[in-house]
Amino acid sequence: MKRLSDIGTIKEILSRHGFSFSKGLGQNFLINPSVCPRMAELSGAGSGVGVIEIGPGIGVLTQELCELSDKVVAVEIDKRLIPVLEETMEGYENLRVINEDVLKLDLNKLIEEEFPDMSVVVCANLPYYITSPVIMKLLEDKLRIDSITVMVQKEAAQRICAEVGTRQSSAVTAAVNFYCKPEMLFSVSAGSFMPAPKVDSAVIRLDIYKEPPYTLDDDKKFFTVVRAAFAQRRKTVLNSISSSLGLEKQVVNELLLECRVNPQARAEKLGMDDFVRIARRLIL
Ligand code: SAM
Repeated sequence: MKRLSDIGTIKEILSRHGFSFSKGLGQNFLINPSVCPRMAELSGAGSGVGVIEIGPGIGVLTQELCELSDKVVAVEIDKRLIPVLEETMEGYENLRVINEDVLKLDLNKLIEEEFPDMSVVVCANLPYYITSPVIMKLLEDKLRIDSITVMVQKEAAQRICAEVGTRQSSAVTAAVNFYCKPEMLFSVSAGSFMPAPKVDSAVIRLDIYKEPPYTLDDDKKFFTVVRAAFAQRRKTVLNSISSSLGLEKQVVNELLLECRVNPQARAEKLGMDDFVRIARRLIL
């Protein structure tokens, strides 16, 4: 097996295929040999577990996942990488590569077709330009998966893993905490990639709650409230929610007081229970 994290090997393979990196598709390939084995191991990939990988690139993480798991389905948008993967992943009978945009894919259908009797995890070095949309799709589609282990920009990792109700928290923190318990696993320096991005990265794991701790008639209302509260994060929740949702201040003020939330507080001071209480009472 060729070591795909070796710069010389990567350059040789890519030049033979006439491949050039696309910045627009977030193509920064891993060249640090210690990252992928660790990431694959911590993702829960193993016997009896199916893995969905997003953006396999030339297959550096894919190889590790295929070594550990019974079956891997890798979704790659860039059709130029399909012949590359055919070469680098030759001999791995437990891999299926799908040439698609992950954001357009019906992942529930994919899971039922590809992994009918297996537990499933997601593991990926995510293209940074779609970090939040991909994570939110994986969560909002309510997929039958146990966890999501992803490499993201360090700043995004810190935001996602912050405690709700602290200064570092944001709308994505609250949204992620609605479905799962996020955990920071390890940092990865910018020099671990080719081409090197401007900022460092980190690997995080989101463990999906088996029993969701928050119940609502309509989950979407929770996200509406969170987005509205953080829309103008320097303003009070009263101002931010009323202007974002086009509601009268007096109505929002009463709603917040009924929910035992200080209307003059900023969104970053609110906890999960506060957002849930507001969402339960909000009539739009
Ligand atoms: N896994 C490889 C690695 O670690 O070296 C490549 C990671 S690179 C950061 C992101 C990969 O995602 C690229 O291969 C890129 O073509 C692919 N990608 C970008 N947008 C995508 C999308 N919407 N759906 C599926 N794959 C995508």
